[in-house]
Amino acid sequence: MAFVDETMNAWVVDEPGPLPSSPIRWNLRPVPRQSTGELLVRVLACGVCRTDLHVVEGDLPVRTRGVVPGHEVVGEIVACDPANTGFDVGERVGVPWLRETCGHCEFCLRGKENLCPRSRYTGWDADGGYAEFLTVPAGYAYRLPGGYSDAELAPLLCAGLIGYRAWRRAEVPVGGVLGLYGFGASAHLTAQVAIASGARVHVLTRAARARELALDLGAASARAAADEPPEPLDSAVLFAPVGELVPVALAALRRGGTLAVAGIHLSDIPALDYHRHLFYERDLRSVTANTRADGLDFLRFAGQHRLRVTTTPYRLDRADAALRDLAADRVDGAAVLLPGG
Ligand SMILES: [Zn+2]
Ligand SMILES: [Zn+2]
Repeated sequence: MAFVDETMNAWVVDEPGPLPSSPIRWNLRPVPRQSTGELLVRVLACGVCRTDLHVVEGDLPVRTRGVVPGHEVVGEIVACDPANTGFDVGERVGVPWLRETCGHCEFCLRGKENLCPRSRYTGWDADGGYAEFLTVPAGYAYRLPGGYSDAELAPLLCAGLIGYRAWRRAEVPVGGVLGLYGFGASAHLTAQVAIASGARVHVLTRAARARELALDLGAASARAAADEPPEPLDSAVLFAPVGELVPVALAALRRGGTLAVAGIHLSDIPALDYHRHLFYERDLRSVTANTRADGLDFLRFAGQHRLRVTTTPYRLDRADAALRDLAADRVDGAAVLLPGG
C-alpha cells in the first residue's frame, strides 16, 4: 500500500520549555498508518494556535512524549476505507483539536462531549498537523465549506470554532452589545460572526494594528485593552490569556451580563470585588474546547457568510519562527503553516 514505510518531515516536542530553549525539533518520521475507522490525511495547511504554544512551552502537561503539535489542519485524504469511514480518498477535510470522546459518559450523553473526561486531542494526545501527514478518526473530521483557500480554512478549525463556542457561551442578546478583549486569530473571526448575527461589537486590545483590523471588519469601536468601552456591554469574550482583564471586563458589563473566557490557559485572576464585578447577576464562564455540533454549526455559518480570514503564511519548516512570532504578538490574524512552501 502507498505511504507505508515512507518517511515524512514533522516537528516534535522534545522537552517542553520556553521557546529560546528550542523545545521542538524538525525531524524525519515514518508516515503514520490509519487504523480502522481513521483517515490518513496529507496536510495542505495547518494553523498555529496559541494552544500549540502552551503544549510546546509546557503550560499544558505532557500527555504524549514526542508529540507532533498542530490542530487546525486542512488536508486531503490519501487513504481510508470508504465503507467504515464515510469518506473517500481525495476529499478535503478539516482536523480539529477534539479528536475522540468516549461516547457513553454522562457528558457525552448530555450533548456536552467537550467535557468528556476521556476526551483526546489532536496535537496533544495524538500527533497533529506540524507534519506532512497525520491520521484522524473519521467521526471527528469535518467536511469543509467551499469558497475558501486551504490557508483560510485552517484557522477556522480552532480559532474560529472556539470563538464560535465562546460567542454562544457569552449569550449575546438579539441586537445586543458585545465586547471582545484581545483581537487575534480567534477574535477577528468571532467579531464577524457576532456582527453578521446583529450584535454591535466593541474591541479592546493592546496592538494598534489589531484595532485597525477590528474597525475594518466592522467593529463599532476599538480601544486599548484596559479602556472602558463606549457603552456598557451585554456580553463579553476574553480572548487575551490575561487574568487581569477579568475584573476589567466584568466591570464593563451591564446587569445580567455574561463574560466568557475563551482560552485554555489564563494567568491568575486578581481578587474580585463582589459588588463591582459580580453582583446584579453578572456571570463569569469558561469555555472548554467544543462539541462536534458546534463545529458543524460554525462551518455551516462560514459556508453561508463569507468570513474574511486574515492569515500570515509560513513554510512548514519554519514552524518554530511562527511560534516565536505568535508569542511576541507579531502575527497578523492567524499564522498558517504550508508544507508546499
Ligand atoms: Zn464521554
Ligand atoms: Zn487551538
